[in-house]
Order: sequence, then C-alpha cells, then structure tokens
Amino acid sequence: MKNNTLVNHPPAVPMPEDNRSLVAPIYQSVKFSFDDTAETLSYLRGERDGFFYSRSSNPTLKQLQLLLAQLQGRDDCLLTGSGVATIAASLLSLCKQGDHILAFIESYGPTRYIVQHLLAKFGVTHTLLSIEDLAGIERVLRESPTRLVVFESPTNPVTKIADIEHLTKQARRAGALTVLDNTFAGFHNHGAYDIDIYLHSLTKYASGHGDVMGGAIIARGELIDAMRKDLSSMGPTLDPHAAFLIQRGMRTYFLRYERQCANAQAAGLFLKSHARVKAVYYPGLESHPQHALARRQMTDFGAVVTIELDGGLEQGARFAEALQLFSISASVGSAESLVMPPQLLAGNEYTAEQRAAALITRGTVRLSIGLEDVEDLIQDLSQALDRAFS
Ligand SMILES: *Cc1c(COP(=O)(O)O)cnc(C)c1O
Repeated sequence: MKNNTLVNHPPAVPMPEDNRSLVAPIYQSVKFSFDDTAETLSYLRGERDGFFYSRSSNPTLKQLQLLLAQLQGRDDCLLTGSGVATIAASLLSLCKQGDHILAFIESYGPTRYIVQHLLAKFGVTHTLLSIEDLAGIERVLRESPTRLVVFESPTNPVTKIADIEHLTKQARRAGALTVLDNTFAGFHNHGAYDIDIYLHSLTKYASGHGDVMGGAIIARGELIDAMRKDLSSMGPTLDPHAAFLIQRGMRTYFLRYERQCANAQAAGLFLKSHARVKAVYYPGLESHPQHALARRQMTDFGAVVTIELDGGLEQGARFAEALQLFSISASVGSAESLVMPPQLLAGNEYTAEQRAAALITRGTVRLSIGLEDVEDLIQDLSQALDRAFS
C-alpha cells in the first residue's frame, strides 16, 4: 500500500471487548459499512440493527435519542439541527392538504410563522386562539375536524400555563394529535400527560452552554416511525459533534435547571417587592394567576421571569442596558443571564389584539436567569432599576 492510499485507509484501532471508553466516542462519520452486501441489504430492509448513513442514523445521535426519550417518558426520538427544524419538519410530516391545526397566539414566533404561512401554502388551515380560551378550544375541537393541537407551556414571554389535562382530553375526544413544544418546561416535566408528540429546542436547557443548537421530537415508537422517513428525506439532521456537546450538557441538566429555577424564584420575589415593577410573571410565585395549575403540572418552573415595568419603552431599554450581568440577547435557559427589552419583544407580527392577548406591552421585559450567584443577580437587578428610573 502506497502512502497516498494509506492516508485514505488509516490503521483501525479496535477496542478490546473488556476495555470501554467511559464517554461514548463521537462517531464523526457519514458512512458505516457492513462486511457484505447481504448484511447491508438486511439492514436497509430493517431486519437487523446497525448504521449506514448519518442522515438517517448515527451511534452518537442514538445515545442522545435514547436518553431524551427516556427522560420524557416516551419510546423514541428524532434529532434535528435546531429547535425550529423539529417544529417545521414534524408539522410538515404530520399534516396533509386540507388538515386543520389549532394553534395559539402565545406560541413561539417561528411556530406561528410555520402554521400561518408555510403550512398554509400547502393547504393546511389553522385557527389561532389564546391558550387561556378554554371555551374556544372546546368549540373549535367540537366543530372543526382537527389534525393537530400545537401548544406550549409555560408560554413565551409571560409564562401562561396551558391546562394540559383539559387540552389533551378535548383533543383526544376530537381525534386530534397533541404537539407540545416543551422547551421551557424541560424533559422532566409534563411526561405523565396524554401528549402525543413533544418538541424541544436542545439549544436551551439541554446544551445549556449557549454554544450549540439542536432540536428533538419525542413520541411513542409508532409516531416516530411514521415521521422517520420524511425527516431523513428532508434532511434537517443534527451533526454528531453537536450531539456529543448536547449529550455532555445533559450531564448537568438537572443541576443547572434546579439552580436556575431557585435563582429565578428568588429574583422573581425580589422584583415583585419593587415599587417600579407593576407585575412579575413567574409560575413559581404564588401571585402568578395560574400558580396552582402550574404546581399541579410541573415539578419546577423554569428560568424565565418576565416583568411589567412602570413606564414604558424608554425605561425598559434603560433597565436592560444598565444590567451588568444580563446580556441583551435572544434565547433562554443558558448558563449566563439574558434580558430582552420591550423593543425586542414587541415585533413578532402581532396584531394589536393579539399582542393584548399575549400580554406583551411597552413595559414588558423578559429575563432568562442564569447560574450566577443569586445575590449578585438581585443586586444587579436592583441597581439597574434604580438607574432606569433615576
Ligand atoms: C428557542 C425556542 C425554539 C427554537 O429553537 P432553536 O433551537 O432556536 O431553533 C422553539 N420553541 C421554543 C419554545 C423556544 O424557546
């Protein structure tokens, strides 16, 4: 073998059977090979285990898929390169022309875009209600044959809580599948409910460090199997290196989530006591209008605390800019604290009526509470409020 051949067939290093790596290696390989054609065909027919092409399956992704499915209490999982890719790909896969989707005003902006614009191009219709409109939900599901109910809890940014039992019961009776974007609540919440499909942005709590994007679709095996071919044909696959980083992030998922929730609770209590803060939206606070429902549905309440400042846009921007430990940025759930002033929350192509239903005003500021020391965070919030109103 000449050297220019050798560099393309480097020496293999098989691991002895009794000698394992404690961390699974990154299978940064597009292709996997069987010894002969018959075994390859047998794999492609689904008659044996294995891997062939990383757009469809890869061992590094498989470990993360099994972990996330187990945490959420379902059979199986598909991974994508971002959270929105899971939303777009799963909704495209689950719907056909003429289907109807029930979606919500308070949903994540790109989800509403996908339902209102992208799926509409293919003849999928929708109704947009407020997640609090229980009578409307009952009426729509009774009167319009519906394929999917797509929702979130807590919602972004004002942490409204969906009544999941009510929603799933109505949807089941109407023969609709429920799709819960569970990113804000996390993998350990809502698993006991009769939800058909969970979506997660892995960019947030799963990776945890703000350095990698990903998404997950988690459901019972039959539903995942029905979507598998569509996804591998659309190709929004997660890269194995990103999967490895997310898997690594998951090791500290519970520690981070618990600490962030404790920090958020303390920050929420402080903010509630401040004269310049008109309202605090955090489901863990007893003052949250749906605290009892949140407590029934969730074990903890996430890192997002949204406030309604006295004053308006100007005070919101001054407050955000005066914060030292919170960066003005998108995203939530990362290790460092983040803030979105009202100017950056107001867009989202809402009509005035929808914005009112979503409770987004000229004084709304969203905080994502990180892992910093809680006393430092509270001191920072306090000095920034002083500066915003001085
Ligand atoms: C961030 C987010 C997404 C999208 O995730 P990306 O990884 O940024 O594409 C979807 N849903 C919710 C609720 C989110 O917060």
